[in-house]
Order: sequence, then C-alpha cells, then structure tokens
Amino acid sequence: MKRALISVSDKDGILDFARGLSKEGIEILSTGGTAKLLREGGLTVKDVSEVTGFPECLDGRVKTLHPKVHGGILAKRGDEDHQKTLKDLEIDAIDLVVINLYPFKETIAKEAVSLEEAIENIDIGGPTMLRSAAKNFEDVTVVTDRRDYDRVLKEIQKRGDTSLVTRYELALKVFRETAYYDGLIAEHLGKNMKKHLEEHIGKGNTEKGMAAGETDQGDEADSTHKADKAYPEDFAFPEKLTLPYEKVMDLRYGENPHQKAAFYREAGNVPGSLVHAEQLQGKALSFNNLNDTQGALELLKEFEKPTAVAVKHTNPCGVASNETIEKAFEKCYAADPKSIFGGIVALNREVDESTAREMEEIFLEVVVAPGFSREALEVFKTKKNLRILQLPDILQRERGMDIKKVSGGLLVQDKDRDLISDSKIVTEKAPGDEEMKDLEFAYKVAKHVKSNGVVIAKDQQTLAIGPGQTSRIWALDNAIRNVEHDLAGSVLASDAFFPFDDCVMKAKEQGISAIIQPGGSLKDEDSIQCCDRYGISMVFTGMRHFKH
Ligand code: 5GP
Repeated sequence: MKRALISVSDKDGILDFARGLSKEGIEILSTGGTAKLLREGGLTVKDVSEVTGFPECLDGRVKTLHPKVHGGILAKRGDEDHQKTLKDLEIDAIDLVVINLYPFKETIAKEAVSLEEAIENIDIGGPTMLRSAAKNFEDVTVVTDRRDYDRVLKEIQKRGDTSLVTRYELALKVFRETAYYDGLIAEHLGKNMKKHLEEHIGKGNTEKGMAAGETDQGDEADSTHKADKAYPEDFAFPEKLTLPYEKVMDLRYGENPHQKAAFYREAGNVPGSLVHAEQLQGKALSFNNLNDTQGALELLKEFEKPTAVAVKHTNPCGVASNETIEKAFEKCYAADPKSIFGGIVALNREVDESTAREMEEIFLEVVVAPGFSREALEVFKTKKNLRILQLPDILQRERGMDIKKVSGGLLVQDKDRDLISDSKIVTEKAPGDEEMKDLEFAYKVAKHVKSNGVVIAKDQQTLAIGPGQTSRIWALDNAIRNVEHDLAGSVLASDAFFPFDDCVMKAKEQGISAIIQPGGSLKDEDSIQCCDRYGISMVFTGMRHFKH
C-alpha cells in the first residue's frame, strides 16, 4: 500500500488515522479542508489539485473529479493494459480511499432548511470516489465509516495491506452508504417538492423546467399559478422506492424467541413517532413491545381529551376519555381488568403520582406518555422492569405512507387518517347528544381494532371489544361473551358494514341503544328496518376502517 487519498467532511479521528498511515510510509493525498487539518497536525500531504493539475473550483463542487484521481483508483493492478495506461498517462495508483460525505442528513434535519442549502450539501465527488474504490475492491481499500479506522490501520501495520475479506466488507458498506445517501436525497426532494418550488418561485425565479411537468401551454403571466398546477399533487407512490432506513438497535428476538430481529428508523424527523420516545427506565424494549406501543399510539392520536389506551397484541382492550388522566386510566383499566395484564398503556397527558400508583398495582409491559411527574417516576422505580417511555409530541400524526411487507414486495397505501366522510342518521330515531359522543368515541376505537372488529362503549369508556374475527357476528359474540358490564344504554361501533341484520338483533338483546357503522351493504335496509323495529338509532359514516 503506497498511496492514500483522504477527503472527509466529518474530520473526527482522521488525524490519528492519517498519522498511522504516514508512519507506515503511505503517501497522503488530500483535498482543501482535510489537507489543511492534516498539515496543521504536522503531516506531509500532497494536494489533490497538485495531482490533477487543476484547482479545486466552483465552490468545491469540482475537486477530485479527474482521470488522474479516478484512473488511479479504478485501474486493475493485475491487468497489464491498465498498468501500461497508468504509465502512459502518468497516473499514480491510489490504494486506499478514505472519505465521508457532505452532511446531507444533518443538513435536512435542521428546521426550515432551504432548497439551496440542501442542494449544496449533495456530495458529488465523494460518492464518485467511494464507488470507484468499492468497485475495485480487489485492489483498493475504501473506508467511509470512522469506526473502521482502527481496524484498517491495525491490518496495515500488521501485514502491510488489508485482507480481501476486509476490502469486500468495506466495499459492501460503501454501496450501502451511497444508496442510503441517495435515498435521503430522493426522499427529501420528493417530500418537499411543493415547498421547494414555491420557495424558488417566491424568489422570482421562474425558469422553465423547474416545476416537473411544466409545459409551455397556458398563461405566461401568472407563473405561480402555472407552477402550482404543474407539479403533481401526490408523490406518495413514485416508480422507484428509495426509502432510507437506518438501524436503531438489534432486538433480542422477534415476535418469537427463535426469530432474529432489529428495529430500523426512517431517516428524517418524524415527530410523535415511536422512534422519538425516550426510555426513562425498564428492561430493553422487545419487538412485541414496540409493535404494541405503535398500535397504542396510533389509537391515542385520535383523542384530544385526557385519554388512556390499553393494548394487547396490537388490539385495544380498554380505552377511556375523561376529565383527568387519572380518571381516564381508572376507566381504561375497569373496561377490561383481565386483558390489560401484561399490556401496554398509552396516555396523552403527563402521568401524575396518583395515576402512577394505580398503574403500579398491575403488571404492565410499557407505559408511554408525553411526560411523567417526578413523583410518578419515583413510584415506578419500584417496578424495575416496567418500561417507561416519554414521547413529548405524542399527539402529532405522521404524514406519509403505510407499508406492509408481502412476499416479494411491498404493499403501500396512504395512512388511514380520517374518521367519517359523511355522517348520516338512517333510522327513525336519532341518537341523543351523549349517544352521539359515545358513537364517535366507539368508532375511533373500532378504527384501530383488527377486522372484523366491533366496539361497545358508554360514557367515553369501552365496555367490550371484539377484534380480529372472520365473521362480523362472531366479533360481536366475542365482544359480549366475556363481558361483566351491563351493556344497557351503550353504543356499538363496527369497522365495516353489517351484511345482515343479525348484529342488530344481537345488539337489541344486550340493550344497546345506538349503532355506528359505515353502511354500504346491499342489505343495509334490513339492518335499518331492524333498528327501527327495536327503537335503536343508527348512524352511517360513509367511511370503512378495515385494519389487518
Ligand atoms: P474538504 O473538507 O477536504 O475540503 O472536503 C471534503 C469533502 O469534499 C468530503 O466530504 C468529500 O466527499 C468531498 N469531495 C471530494 N471531492 C469532491 C468533488 O469533486 N466534488 C464535491 N462536490 N465534493 C467532493
């Protein structure tokens, strides 16, 4: 190993690494800022501009994009023609490439980042060199992660070069890194297209071709209007998916102990999401904890009033809203004191001492809330294993896509954000004010119950939940079978329409007084007539909420 090219944005640890390389007699080529730092550290460094015979130019946009650099990296060492070409063109081989990229991720994480700033932080020469070196991994070592400095230096010190295995691993890392980096760029530009173009137009800049799909037709005078029309409204489903994810942590195991698992986060800031929850105490989070907490959070986000949600196996088992969070939790617990055992509780207000004391009584896996009083945290300290998660923006909802993995592909859809499209009372009897509030409450819960799902509620508290059945009447049967509550005067919500009037009959037996469901069955009329016969009121929402 004779020659290294070092060009890094994140300069942490680079001086020590370069010193080590220098000691091994390796010549160091470098770019502007990196070269300066290394020289200040007492090293002898050759500027890349000296190698290329070209100054770094265009504000650093062009520094290393030159055949003297890329020829030196890409030439095959064992290929006579390649070697001859190097000689003829007076190109020196480069054996080690050390690069990390412009901080695009950090740049776009800043609030209100402008298009210009984002664009300037798209590294061009860096990924190009990384890819050249990675392509030629048989002969060239490429380092893009500073956690590899030590290992690479040690290998060089020991054997004068790196092993093929190391070079292969490092090359693979590079292709993952550059793919991730490009994914970040594509996602950022895609998500912010409208904002960026408006910003651009706001500056009086209306060059043609800036807005995608912009044509020469139409009114030249009103360029804002024109561009507005020109950019596609929906970027949710591009032809190529480039979602960049990075690992948060390996998990002990997956849904079951024999399944390996890890947790990945989306690049970028998604406030209110699970990845932003700070764990204040307790055992490490498991795959099921995270999955269940996600289910609890999605449901919790439906409510503004103080609300507590208990979840088991991603289905809610108790939900209640009330004037105080303590009362809400009491009622959430009382909704189904059996199922909550080993469950997840999510609350949308700070947890105070008295609420914590009530929770302390039962076995829970996770409690997640926007905050916890000092006294509440003291109470939880006695339960060492209980995982306490703090998520300040707990009510903030995520925009974007809902993604399901299927064998060989992904199913992608909009998130199920809305609740009711067209509320219509379809029976002779109309629900009273309190019933109407309970219907909406129950319907919000039903939206987050696995289909087929039904929810029975009263006074902003679930009384019975029937999740995940293959027939709707079974969902209702299951909901009421094990319930100890008196259901008289309660309301019933169903995530999808009633195909027959059997659910209404069953509701009548239980004294249920009002029903909410999307409607839309060929046999809606049967259910309506049945309601009228029994004096039950029924509301159609026009919006189905299957969840699988
Ligand atoms: P320095 O701080 O040494 O001046 O710049 C280091 C950064 O420049 C590295 O992140 C590297 O990836 C990037 N870089 C190296 N060559 C080029 C180039 O030709 N064009 C651009 N845009 N960036 C480059």
